[in-house]
Amino acid sequence: MELKFTEEQEMFRESVREFCQRKITPVALEMEKTREISIEIKKGMAELGLLGCTASPEYGGSGLDAVSAGVIGEELARADPTGSIPVFYLVQAAWGFVLNKYGTEEAKEEVFPKVIAGEYFLGIATTESDAGSDVGGTRTMIKKEGDGYIVNGEKMYISGVREAAEGGGGHLTIAKQNPELGTRGMTMFYLPLTADGITPTYIDDLGREGISCGGFAIDNVRIPKYYIIGEENKGFYIVHEGYEFARGLIAVICAAAGLKSLENGMNYIKERKCFGTAIGKFEEINFRLAEHYTRLNMLRDLAYKSLWTIDREQQGKGSRFETSKAIAMAKMFASDWACNAINDVMQWQGAFGYSKECPDQAAWRAIRSFALAEGSKEMMKMIVARELLGKEFIAYK
Ligand SMILES: Cc1cc2nc3c(=O)[nH]c(=O)nc-3n(C[C@H](O)[C@H](O)[C@H](O)COP(=O)(O)OP(=O)(O)OC[C@H]3O[C@@H](n4cnc5c(N)ncnc54)[C@H](O)[C@@H]3O)c2cc1C
Repeated sequence: MELKFTEEQEMFRESVREFCQRKITPVALEMEKTREISIEIKKGMAELGLLGCTASPEYGGSGLDAVSAGVIGEELARADPTGSIPVFYLVQAAWGFVLNKYGTEEAKEEVFPKVIAGEYFLGIATTESDAGSDVGGTRTMIKKEGDGYIVNGEKMYISGVREAAEGGGGHLTIAKQNPELGTRGMTMFYLPLTADGITPTYIDDLGREGISCGGFAIDNVRIPKYYIIGEENKGFYIVHEGYEFARGLIAVICAAAGLKSLENGMNYIKERKCFGTAIGKFEEINFRLAEHYTRLNMLRDLAYKSLWTIDREQQGKGSRFETSKAIAMAKMFASDWACNAINDVMQWQGAFGYSKECPDQAAWRAIRSFALAEGSKEMMKMIVARELLGKEFIAYK
């Protein structure tokens, strides 16, 4: 058994960390006010090959595997406590993986070069007002018409709506094509948010304010055939591959954000004195540090193992079910464990910890989103239980 990154991954980590320290950390908290990721940062990420990194080299990507993609996510999460850049990155890495695997040549040639250059945003839009955890509740419809398709419906709580609607790009989306077939009648497609018939709306989220969240109405939007991702009626299955890639990255990101926050906390509790001694000497504080540190390292190991499971599956060495279980195990506690650690770090810092100047409060607000985004923690438990007991043990079926 050998658990280590390759030399190439370590060197890559170094160059990402150096970029992050120079370009991201000094301005990260500003994103809470400007509510955008600057063009300079996007360009820097593009130059390092961080955007659309899972696209194959023939489309300009680096064809990174899941573990290497995790290394980038980890460094970005350490650098940006607002979580905006990690989200901007992870969504495009995960859904770029899906576009790369299942998209048509024309779609890949059209979308990838701009995503990789940091000009387009590539997101995912499955959630609707009545379809979150239960993707089967999707009401958006896709219908063949002539040599293309017509889409009608709405999507809600979607990351990167402003980035795609104003800057260019779009979202991989699913809709019902044959509603009588339930989840077996859903088709996935690329939907540019600049298309005629798209009306965006925005939501004021608790955190990760450098990237937008919103929804959009889809009114008779026409898309060409080459925007279909994979086969018609297979969308429900394809979407889970993307969600799993994203969830594995989220687990790494949660561990990294939590561990970075503990580092901040350690610096503080070594210096801060109460009752004539450093507060880091109090067991109420340092025992909690020990517990959080242990838990977050367990999470980090589990998260990388889950990404490694994806890579094994792509090499034909593992099954879909193994991947689903490993990923769900990694994401299940990721947000809670990281948020609990960050919350304690805020507490250690007293009143400063509750001020907007404290990076840890921004991290808490960002990491809290991952108890829901890309699949709730409850759904992760459902997946693991289903893999252990069998489908017949899903209570509502
Ligand atoms: C910041 C943020 C960004 C997001 N970005 C995107 C995006 O880019 N694209 C996208 O498509 N979606 C996105 N989402 C939506 C996200 O995927 C959904 O919030 C999530 O799937 C849950 O769906 P819901 O909000 O409709 O809650 P519901 O599905 O209505 O669930 C409500 C609660 O009930 C629980 N629950 C439901 N069923 C069960 C059950 N059987 N057993 C136990 N508990 C259950 C859920 O876990 C949840 O806690 C984002 C969400 C957030 C918060």
